[in-house]
Amino acid sequence: MTATKIGIVGAAGRMGRMLIDEVNATPGAKLAAAAERPGHDCIGRDAGTLAGLKPLGVAVADKPEAVFAASDVVIDFTVPTATLAHAALAAKHKAALVIGTTGFAPDQAKKVAAAARVVPIVWAANMSLGVNLLLALTQRVAKALGPDYDIEILEMHHKHKVDAPSGTALALGEAAATGRGVKLATVAARGRDGLTGARKPGAIGFAALRGGDVVGDHYVIYAGEGERLELVHKASSRKIYSRGAVRAALWLKGKKPGLYGMDDVLGLDD
Ligand code: NAD
Repeated sequence: MTATKIGIVGAAGRMGRMLIDEVNATPGAKLAAAAERPGHDCIGRDAGTLAGLKPLGVAVADKPEAVFAASDVVIDFTVPTATLAHAALAAKHKAALVIGTTGFAPDQAKKVAAAARVVPIVWAANMSLGVNLLLALTQRVAKALGPDYDIEILEMHHKHKVDAPSGTALALGEAAATGRGVKLATVAARGRDGLTGARKPGAIGFAALRGGDVVGDHYVIYAGEGERLELVHKASSRKIYSRGAVRAALWLKGKKPGLYGMDDVLGLDD
């Protein structure tokens, strides 16, 4: 069987470098091309040496179009504005896309959905198996416990993270809201500070901590009268994300256009 040609945009990022390593180590996957934002000092460097490997014969380009033209699937862990441009290029070149970027505004999501009418796209705020199981459990527990249990979602990430709450925390909020049969937008309580008043019944609260090199901790707390249930996931290596992203890339080959999640890739609904 021919190897799946995988391209990586944002190649010099924390995730980009891990993705180069992961693609290189995965049977059936081949690094076809890599790109970074124009002006980045890694432009022209070999992608292998950038990731601490031997040279792989793939130079980091400053034009993403070449990556989409050369790849069956492109993996994108960059920033929302870049990802939107990449989604349009994926549709133009009929390349499948794996999106790990987080921090999108609601109207930006529509542009990703438009590209998914032309090509298959896996879009997940968290690519790890454990977190995707946590999402499924969060929905189930919210449904079982009902509105008497106050739901609070707490996350902690490293000091470089630029968006809050994390995409995963918001996805956990969506899962809890779905379990309760409500819309998250109508019940979310974000950024409490000062004289906030008492907790609104039915609210789903969020809190974000930042510091050090924490890869990603998520707590879903169900606080009732006389008892508290907590679901916790702690990531200790970013490898769980790059492994999940490459698994998604291999899964996408030959899939119909559409927007898929990691539950599809991992078969969690089966
Ligand atoms: P990072 O800042 O280390 O890397 C982002 C890279 O994208 C940088 O190298 C930057 O130069 C590059 N970039 C910016 N604009 C670009 C453009 N126009 N074209 C090409 N490259 C461009 O960040 P990171 O820690 O690697 O995370 C990247 C994103 O992935 C964030 O949104 C983060 O929240 C998300 N993330 C998601 C998961 C997941 O499982 N879905 C896991 C980890 C991180």
